Amino acid sequence: MSKIEQSKIPSALPTPADISARLRAAGLRPTRQRCSLAALLFGQGDRHVSAETLHEEAVRAGVRVSLATIYNTLHQFQQSGLLRELAIEGHRSYFDTNISNHNHFYIEHRGELVDIPGDHVRVDGLPTPPEGMRISHIDVVVRLVKI
Ligand SMILES: [Zn+2]
Repeated sequence: MSKIEQSKIPSALPTPADISARLRAAGLRPTRQRCSLAALLFGQGDRHVSAETLHEEAVRAGVRVSLATIYNTLHQFQQSGLLRELAIEGHRSYFDTNISNHNHFYIEHRGELVDIPGDHVRVDGLPTPPEGMRISHIDVVVRLVKI
């Protein structure tokens, strides 16, 4: 089975204690709201969500939270290293629960991201970074359209 298929299979669901431990380890106070959102984010295996889709899920799950709070929380999670942010179309950000080094297919007509395992894209001819800097990572987005 490829890594792409595996990433769709939810791993064992984290318990509320796992969730708050994870927030604490990232330096965040495990408030009720953060715990509810973290449970939605990290309770279903690796995934890519936008603030809007997470907001819809929260509403469906009965979590009362504004879209602005969702944005703030996603950015806090990202700054604490719990999520990776992927800007695909300037105005639209996706947040990835898989923070390992990997690249993405972007299925344009569905607005959907699919993981490409890290070692499946090779970039040749990289420029030498300016003095005192190193390349941290390279985000490759391979855009797909219907044929
Ligand atoms: Zn990803």
